Order: sequence, then structure tokens, then C-alpha cells
Amino acid sequence: MSEGYSILVDTSKCTACRGCQIACKQWNGLPGTKTKNEGTHQNPMDLSFETYKIVRFAEGAQPDGKLYWNFFSEQCRHCLNPGCMAEAEKDEIIQNKETGAVLFTPKTKTLNFQSAREGCPYDIPRQDPKTKEMFKCTMCFDRITNNMKPACVKSCPTGAMIFDERDKILAAAKVRVDELKKSNPKAQAINADDVRVIYIVTDDPKKYWEFAAGR
Ligand code: SF4
Ligand code: SF4
Repeated sequence: MSEGYSILVDTSKCTACRGCQIACKQWNGLPGTKTKNEGTHQNPMDLSFETYKIVRFAEGAQPDGKLYWNFFSEQCRHCLNPGCMAEAEKDEIIQNKETGAVLFTPKTKTLNFQSAREGCPYDIPRQDPKTKEMFKCTMCFDRITNNMKPACVKSCPTGAMIFDERDKILAAAKVRVDELKKSNPKAQAINADDVRVIYIVTDDPKKYWEFAAGR
């Protein structure tokens, strides 16, 4: 399935204000999380069953010794072929045809959580320890089926996130990557053919993901 919608996250425009993180909590009625300073601006340190979006902060040194500090607004990628669904039998996890959103339902409490989490290449699914139900980003299904943008996209003050029909997002990603490549030869749209939440990065994707705080 390749119709439906997509979100483009241009990390080169992200200032790590975390407006998207707060907007996700507010729209979804999720509680704040009690945290402590772990020596990074990343807060909380990971996704959870009540945190569907976090801005990851990754830092390290380039081969020439210069430091990098990258921001990555993490959420479910709404994969075209979702690995998290591998062991779902009926409607524990639904891939909505019109939008492409991958939705966890209350029936996820009957699934093997570890299998679902390990099936996800991006380590996204989380489980409520009490009810055993699984949770993650919904692509703001209730908003996008009522002609509104996802809350995180709407809240972004720099235009780092856009939401649109998938073909338009793929075209926008190509234009932006071509533009960025003039000064950043490593610019790319990560796994654009496989996911609906497409991230543009200007360096090795590992420098946004593997070396993020808490990993
Ligand atoms: S990112 Fe993970 S949880 Fe989200 S649809 Fe893909 S496999 Fe499922
Ligand atoms: S699309 Fe909605 S549910 Fe998903 S991260 Fe953004 S605000 Fe949260």
C-alpha cells in the first residue's frame, strides 16, 4: 500500500524546542513523566506507553575532532510493511487503508509484546505494565480523518515537519535532499520507500539514532 499520507521530518530545520513532544502529550491526553537530569537535554530518556514522541539528542565527535549535536524527533514510522504486525492475527494491530496509519488496538494486550517490539526495526512499541496493552504514535488518526494535521506537525514553529498525501511528501523529500546535498553530500531521506514518517538527515543516520542519549 503506498497511497495515504506521510510525514516528512527535516532534521536540518529542527531546533529541538520539543514543541512536538508537548503537543503529542496534550492532544493525546497523556500525563507528564517524572524525570531527573541525566546530563542531556533529552527528557524523558525514552518513549513509553504514555510518551509517543521524544526529541532525541545525539552527540559525538567527527573524524576531524569537530563535535556534532543532532536532534531527532522520534515516533512510529508507520511502515508500509510493519514488522510489529508479524504476529498479529486479526485486529490487534490495524493498518488503515485510507491513511496508511498503523494502529494498536486494546487487543494488543493479547499479543506477545517482546515479539512485537523485536519485530519493529525502530524499537517503537511500548507496553503498559499493568494492562499489558501496547501503545505508540497513532499518526493522530482522530485528527487526520477530520482534515487536521497531526498535532506534532501543527505545533512545529520551524516547519521541520510537514504532513500531506504520500506522493507529495515523497516529491518534497526529493527536492529538499537535492538542495541539502549541495552543501551536505551525505544528505538523505531515510528508508523513504518503506516508511510513512520519513526523516531527512544531513549526515550518517547512526549519528542521529545510535548515539542518542539513553541508547
Ligand atoms: S515503526 Fe515499528 S511500531 Fe511503527 S509501524 Fe513500523 S514496525 Fe510498527
Ligand atoms: S502524529 Fe500525533 S500521536 Fe504521532 S507523534 Fe505526532 S502528535 Fe503524537
